[in-house]
Amino acid sequence: MVAKKSGRTSSARKKKSKNMPKQIAAAVVVIAAAVCVLIFGGGMAGPATSTTLAPLITDEHAFSMHVIDVGQADAILLSKDGKFALVDAGETMKPSEREARDKLFAYLDSLNVTRLEFLLLTHQDYDHIGSALDVLKKYEVGTVYDNGVVHTSATYEKLMTHILDQKIPYRVVAAGDVITSPWQGVTLEVLSPQKDLIMSGKNPDINENSVVIKAVYQNVSYLLTGDAEKKAEEAMLAAGEDLNADILKAGHHGSSTSSTQKFLNAVSPAVIVISLGEGNEYGHPHKEPLERFVQMTEHIYRTDMDGDVVVTTDGNVYSVVTRKAHIYENVIVPNQAAA
Ligand SMILES: [Zn+2]
Repeated sequence: MVAKKSGRTSSARKKKSKNMPKQIAAAVVVIAAAVCVLIFGGGMAGPATSTTLAPLITDEHAFSMHVIDVGQADAILLSKDGKFALVDAGETMKPSEREARDKLFAYLDSLNVTRLEFLLLTHQDYDHIGSALDVLKKYEVGTVYDNGVVHTSATYEKLMTHILDQKIPYRVVAAGDVITSPWQGVTLEVLSPQKDLIMSGKNPDINENSVVIKAVYQNVSYLLTGDAEKKAEEAMLAAGEDLNADILKAGHHGSSTSSTQKFLNAVSPAVIVISLGEGNEYGHPHKEPLERFVQMTEHIYRTDMDGDVVVTTDGNVYSVVTRKAHIYENVIVPNQAAA
């Protein structure tokens, strides 16, 4: 793994200057949590059932977005004032679904989570809902939100049956809706899917109908895009949604299906976080979106390299903390160092 890149710094810097007003309001402070790595000791390589994690946040009153490293899947925790909510609870078959789920639980345990104010499932793919049933069994959950697309997978059917049987409040959301925020001063707007689900043949396209939310706390905003792809991005742009955000959770694990230039321009993120598994079979992140990310900002974080990535804000400034030391900048092609 490479330590530094210099060749691309100038272009990144040029773009960065365009973002200056935002960055003045919210100066980026990067802390590599080496101490936590020491405490963490072994992490996912150790026996999953006995994994314990050190918490990555010290100020529980800050509004935090925790992009948890669960491999090639999404599980993103939002927290503030001792209240928590989860966006996706994904699993992956590699290295194993149990490992992803145990990692998620260990992470929630590290923050003493016993209740989730809501569980938002962006869409019905396994890498976003795989652990959802176990989450509902282990934690008290206030409300489950999703886009209402009916999926035929056994995982989804079992999940919905449990929600119905246990009478867990369930609500379908779409663009224009606001999710009731459990946190004072935080708003949670739904920007996608637009009212008409994006169709592909007879069936709604699962990824394109991802629930996209923007979480705003005073002057700082997080945009979480699930696996939304080009059509969804175009639909949000056409609808005139206010996409501008300081921190972007990149769509679809950094796939070339997502993160078009127009969309990125509208978001104009100062920090981009990609959730993906090391050596994943899809080749994520793809080169094209990664090049566009690098043009946008030099502050790019990846769960395959950084482990858990946590962005924390008091509403004015924000900081990024990673589980592993953040030892690279602007890596476009991972094996480029050989050149
Ligand atoms: Zn996915």
